[in-house]
Amino acid sequence: NPSIIFNELPKGEPTLETLKIDESAQIDLEEELKENEIILKLVCVSLDPYMRGRMREEHIKSYSPAFPLNKPIGGHGVAKVIKSKSSRYEEGVHIYGVLPYTTYIRRMAPTEQEDAQNAKFFGGPALKILKNEENLSWSTYIGAAGMPGKTAYMAWKEYSPVQGHIGQAKVAYISAGSGPVGSLAIQMAKKDGYKVIASAGSDKKIQFCKDIGADVVFNYKTDNPDEIFAKEAPEGIDVNWVNVGGKAFETELAHSASHGRVIVCGWISAYNGKSDGITNLFQIVAKRLHVNGFIVGDLEPKYGSEFYSTVPKALASGEVKFSEVKYDGLDKIPQAFIDLLAGKQGGGDGLGKVVIEIK
Ligand code: NDP
Repeated sequence: NPSIIFNELPKGEPTLETLKIDESAQIDLEEELKENEIILKLVCVSLDPYMRGRMREEHIKSYSPAFPLNKPIGGHGVAKVIKSKSSRYEEGVHIYGVLPYTTYIRRMAPTEQEDAQNAKFFGGPALKILKNEENLSWSTYIGAAGMPGKTAYMAWKEYSPVQGHIGQAKVAYISAGSGPVGSLAIQMAKKDGYKVIASAGSDKKIQFCKDIGADVVFNYKTDNPDEIFAKEAPEGIDVNWVNVGGKAFETELAHSASHGRVIVCGWISAYNGKSDGITNLFQIVAKRLHVNGFIVGDLEPKYGSEFYSTVPKALASGEVKFSEVKYDGLDKIPQAFIDLLAGKQGGGDGLGKVVIEIK
């Protein structure tokens, strides 16, 4: 029963030693199940930047628990119920949830208590049955129709309205614009009439940001954001959607509009331990900025059902666009995770949400 274990604490960037495939565990799929037991088989699993934060020493507290060393890691995935003694999870249904990255998962069907606990953080049952009436590929449910999509959809709705500017097309800036979060944030901002400035790290990613509607897109590795913001947002950035943070945030603050919004979604520039050295945080005061950090689960109770009733349809019809890069097999995870953080999805000038498919 192959799984991916947390093998070594990374110092800085993860390496091929950080995560390892472990084929030693056995599972007997023929063994009789107990009442309420189910066996799941992974269909696809997600790799997300926040998982780097779980690769830490266990005593360090954060919003999501540290991965224990030498144990399987876990995250968002889709699995198929292949055996069941639960009336709730029939054989053949697909579920979405936070799962261990172990090919077969034998467990009890979630109890009401587990669902209630999950609902408190994620707004839904621990293992959500996916009806998939839109006939999307299962991988979509871990990307644009899953946790990253929810992040953009829900936080944009919750935090973007700018005091005093409602109804006017103003300027939004979205870093890491081509990723699963950034690309939906771009489309949400365009739908609300914003002029959208985005940034990304390669020509292919820049082109994708333009294809989905961004008005101005720059390469943060080669272009000068100070000049771009001065030219393209002379009255300032009204909504700054922060995916990257770091030293670049200093320039973003310098160009923020008074009373603007700063939606702090992520800070990927520091996930491998680099420090920021930001010197102008007082701009938050001077400009009366509304700064919101959030974790997507906070918003799920409010927006979860709206998300599932609208976004999968919009993805299926092509109204909302998304991009994925698929890796084949759990054994590709160690490299895929390195690629994700380095922006080299697919092993090169990649683009899209990193998805691991398990045949
Ligand atoms: P992405 O695929 O956008 O993130 C990876 C990309 O970030 C890479 O492809 C790379 O692209 C870019 N990147 C990496 N390091 C840097 C750097 N130092 N400077 C600039 N760009 C960099 O991931 P997601 O769309 O999944 O997530 C986007 C952000 O949202 C992340 O910060 C993530 O942690 C956060 N997030 C927050 C959630 C919440 O609840 N608050 C939930 C989900 C995500 P490039 O080639 O352009 O460099």
